[in-house]
Amino acid sequence: MTTAFRPTHQTPGVHHRNVGEVVVTALNDGMFEASFDWLTNIDAADPPALHQASFRAIPPRITVNAFLAQLGERLVLVDSGCGGVMGPSLGRLADNLAAMGVAPAAIDTVLLTHLHPDHVGGLVDAAGKALLPNAELIVHEAEPPFWQDDAVLAQASEEDRGFVLLARSVLDAYRGRVRTIASGEALPGITAVPAPGHTPGHTGWLIASAADSLLIWGDIVHMPGVQFARPGAGMGFDIDGAQAIATRQRIMDMAATDRLLVAGMHLDFPTFGHLARAGDGYAFIPEVWTP
Ligand SMILES: [Zn+2]
Repeated sequence: MTTAFRPTHQTPGVHHRNVGEVVVTALNDGMFEASFDWLTNIDAADPPALHQASFRAIPPRITVNAFLAQLGERLVLVDSGCGGVMGPSLGRLADNLAAMGVAPAAIDTVLLTHLHPDHVGGLVDAAGKALLPNAELIVHEAEPPFWQDDAVLAQASEEDRGFVLLARSVLDAYRGRVRTIASGEALPGITAVPAPGHTPGHTGWLIASAADSLLIWGDIVHMPGVQFARPGAGMGFDIDGAQAIATRQRIMDMAATDRLLVAGMHLDFPTFGHLARAGDGYAFIPEVWTP
């Protein structure tokens, strides 16, 4: 007699890749159900048609990832997933780090693309206490003042209020170990690529080592099934919608022109790939999985 085997989730979502001397690990945090209604600047019939044509889920799902870069002796996390703030289908980053043998205390630095909950939720526990005892946070200088602005809190919708309060709680929990930068090198070989619009300080991180480079581009894309083909489509929760669209078009053009390897927090795991021009938009060519 065989024992029934019905897995409920994947074995840890951990995928390593060398970028020159740096080992970059994609870490999956889970996924959540989204809505095509969140998209802006696109005909309502197009997103379901694009998903249908590419055999993607309807309603759409948004994958959440973070990354770990091993830079010599230094362990650098790029974003932190959702932690406990977005429900049981997310927050797997901590288990995935544990599965690869990395303890929270071993993380030296966290590069943040921005302060939305699916990027910083994993930094604090339910009581707002820092979960990474030794990490310095590095974030673009435009990001903390925005979330700490009382006018932003006063104007926020009920849901957005939660976003603002979580960003503040993270900045409080890591007070004294938050470094802000405007552009340029944040760590040896890792450079900030400002990509404003989604949030004022939204930033990609470019890792360059030997002849290789990788752009971890944060939230340039939320719905890969739609926004590669239609880079002009925005998300309703972009803080500055027009700027976010212009930034997406600029970064995608650069990635395609420079044949740059990219990875993203909402690209399909393990997320590494390249952009090729296709019609008025792009096709994303995922890198072949290697053992
Ligand atoms: Zn996000």
